[in-house]
Amino acid sequence: MNKIYSLTAIASAVLLMCSCGNDWLDLEPSTSISTDSSINAMQDCNASLNGIYSVMQNAYAYSGRLVYYGDAAGDDMQAYKVTSRTGDAYLFGYTASNVKTSYWEYPYALISACNTILNQVDKIETGDEDLRKYYKGQALALRGMFLFDLTRLFGYPYKKDNGASLGVPIITEVLDKDAKPSRNTVAQCYTQIIKDIKDGAELMNTKTGNAFHKGWINRPAALSLLSRVYLYHGDDALALSAAKDAMSAAKANKFALWTNSEYASAWGADVDESAPGETLFEIINLTDDSPGKEALGYLYDDYGYYDIMCTSSFYELLSSDSKDVRNSIAPISSKRTKRVFIKKYAPQGSEIIQDANIRLLRLSETYLNAAEAAMKTGDKKLAAEYLNAIVTRANPAKSVSEDEITLERIMTERRLELVGEGHRFFDALRDGGYVERRDVSIKAISSTKHLVMSDEKKKFNWNYDHCVLPIPISEIDANNNIDQNPGY
Ligand code: CA
Repeated sequence: MNKIYSLTAIASAVLLMCSCGNDWLDLEPSTSISTDSSINAMQDCNASLNGIYSVMQNAYAYSGRLVYYGDAAGDDMQAYKVTSRTGDAYLFGYTASNVKTSYWEYPYALISACNTILNQVDKIETGDEDLRKYYKGQALALRGMFLFDLTRLFGYPYKKDNGASLGVPIITEVLDKDAKPSRNTVAQCYTQIIKDIKDGAELMNTKTGNAFHKGWINRPAALSLLSRVYLYHGDDALALSAAKDAMSAAKANKFALWTNSEYASAWGADVDESAPGETLFEIINLTDDSPGKEALGYLYDDYGYYDIMCTSSFYELLSSDSKDVRNSIAPISSKRTKRVFIKKYAPQGSEIIQDANIRLLRLSETYLNAAEAAMKTGDKKLAAEYLNAIVTRANPAKSVSEDEITLERIMTERRLELVGEGHRFFDALRDGGYVERRDVSIKAISSTKHLVMSDEKKKFNWNYDHCVLPIPISEIDANNNIDQNPGY
């Protein structure tokens, strides 16, 4: 049976379980029930969306692996040791046979679940059109997000060849059992990603869709993601426009950048509608619904698995300004000698560390997207204004003038602000830049050194074959229309 089809069945079984657990990979497809008949009313859509958010919560999805890849494969963080869970991503140790199939399976299971909702949502009788729009808008925006993550994991950056190389299969329908989709180009994937997120954001342009809903995506979050996607795609004017729309919708719904004094503790705060802060979209993890020790909270913490830490070069960059409030989330460990760990996955209230929520979309990124887009479209004044919202928040004594601002300065600020949130590898490569892994001599963290690796892994750009993941061999065996990436 085709693998994507089997995942459709698994995903629909998950949806019937609602938010009951995270163990969907253990389910046999035979336990699944026909998909379309399971969504007949608005409450079924609600349950299906909860099922999607529950699957996202898995440590092999957005509570862990799908986020940490962008940190481990970059140059601001590194695996603690070769055998760390993040070691394969850090050392590009994957082959078609040993690559974690979850990189492929989770996003496709989630896309299938979105398609099931989208297939039915317009047929439901309801007097609440705003709610229908919100459910449909979420399913579209999320489908766009999952396709974006697949495309940037398995396909080369768009700008390398204007998207001519292979991305991943675009699946927008509930597939039948004989379907054997082939890979679309990266360009085709971006067209679909942009359409889905844009359409989703438009549907969510209602009072309900713009508002804060704990753990659910909304319009400000979708627009912020759209601005990021546009930057990857080279649509700088559109990126600026989407970021502006995101900021304005966020402001109207009480979202606001954390202040300098809030910053250090905000990561562990449990937000609500009255004060959502700058978290536009997050994965909610709770003690009785925990993703477990494979989650970022436990992986990133020196009191957890201490699996991944900051590189010496990143520590040098951040600590060069001791007044930068972001030093608070990258302290020298008191447990692991001369190492630095990221403290962005702080548990809420009395929870333990693996129950930390995962911020997937933050308003700080929206400002950085806007600054980058403004700079690339030639508006230095506006770029400085957006950049300074982040620079001055980090250290009130600092700012960047219109005369000083450069794209490099904006991208450096992006590293400083978004470290540990899965961005660096993709940000380094998407405009043709380099990941450069170098050791810096600093006495306070002298134990922090890159692990042994070949020269090609120490410095590379989008010409390095292994900057994309191999398609899992099980997927190719199940579907002979799927071509492998070069070099695998
Ligand atoms: Ca939590």
